[in-house]
Amino acid sequence: MKPLILHIEQIKDKTFFREFEENARTFPIIAGMIKNRECEFLEPLKIGVKAFKIRELYEVEGNFLTRIRLACSRCLKDFDTPLASDFALTYTREVPGLMDVLNAEEIELRLEEIGLLYFRGEEINLQQGIQEQVVMAFPLQPLCAEDCKGLCPKCGSDLNQKDCGCEREPSANKFAVLKNLKLEKT
Ligand SMILES: [Zn+2]
Ligand SMILES: [Zn+2]
Repeated sequence: MKPLILHIEQIKDKTFFREFEENARTFPIIAGMIKNRECEFLEPLKIGVKAFKIRELYEVEGNFLTRIRLACSRCLKDFDTPLASDFALTYTREVPGLMDVLNAEEIELRLEEIGLLYFRGEEINLQQGIQEQVVMAFPLQPLCAEDCKGLCPKCGSDLNQKDCGCEREPSANKFAVLKNLKLEKT
């Protein structure tokens, strides 16, 4: 079986299920992100899809899971994290009659507007649809930990490892002053 392709004659009832394992580099946009060092993929993508037909629509519901390496947006250190998501894609066959009156690009644009993806012939190629889902699952602001302290804006030390001793912003200073006052009282 070719990668990430569903043969529509097999999609009859709700029992259709397929699993795929795909190297991230087979997705052109993701291959570009890897090349630009925006991320590394530590494992292939494990993809599971259910598919069923409702009139002329093919509903593809699935999920993917992999592990990636990203740079923390606060401390700039690399960290590993799972990347996973559920997705639902709706495909419809291109309508041959319509192709005579409108050009193919125009139809594709209209289908995209209403959230439909389309296919020709007897196969649905999931590559583009799934690629979009994987890209959307990336965190906008990757963090190695929710409470990552980041780098000192003055000396650049990693504040997760040690307190460099540089003067902190006013809020932290106030707290330090209070602490010193309490110590003086005792
Ligand atoms: Zn961090
Ligand atoms: Zn510092």
